[in-house]
Amino acid sequence: MNKGKILVLSGPSGVGKGTVVKELLEKEKSCVVSVSATTRAARQGEIDGVHYFFITKEEFESKIEKGEMLEYTRYNNNYYGTIKSHVQSFLDDGKNVILEIEVDGATQIKKKCPEAITVFLTAPSEDEVERRLRKRNTEDEETIKKRLEIAKGEMKMAKHYDFSVVNDSIENAVNELIKIIKS
Ligand code: 5GP
Repeated sequence: MNKGKILVLSGPSGVGKGTVVKELLEKEKSCVVSVSATTRAARQGEIDGVHYFFITKEEFESKIEKGEMLEYTRYNNNYYGTIKSHVQSFLDDGKNVILEIEVDGATQIKKKCPEAITVFLTAPSEDEVERRLRKRNTEDEETIKKRLEIAKGEMKMAKHYDFSVVNDSIENAVNELIKIIKS
């Protein structure tokens, strides 16, 4: 029996998941965020072990083979996944663990851990997702287009989540998440 809860947070690229999670961690000390493994290149300012564990394709595939991943997916030609032991150690400590992952991974988690709470974070509109993604200014045009395409598909998945939260203001979204965790 786990002492902490798993909270899965998904939402289209650019919706502001990172900012919301950061605020949530500051406000709610029972929460920690799981650091995922990925094969994508680090963006400027991203730190290995903090934002992601940046590993090679070979390392990632070896972890899959050894059954070390709780879930994983391929997104935009890269692997992303959650390391089982990383999450388990937080749960053993009684922490609520936030998994900031996309929809395919969320489905895998719900199957393996039905008690996990799934939340979909949406923007007030599709145009707003595009605006936020462009404002971030970290991706080239081709990547932005691909991410917008994925985002459109992802928005349709919101109905499969336990809760849907609109990120109209960070404060509202964070308060809503805290209510969900405590319920
Ligand atoms: P980004 O490249 O913008 O950091 O992440 C791209 C997408 O991958 C986002 O939707 C993010 O939530 C998702 N993602 C990040 N880590 C994981 C993970 O461990 N597993 C899965 N399934 N998706 C992840």
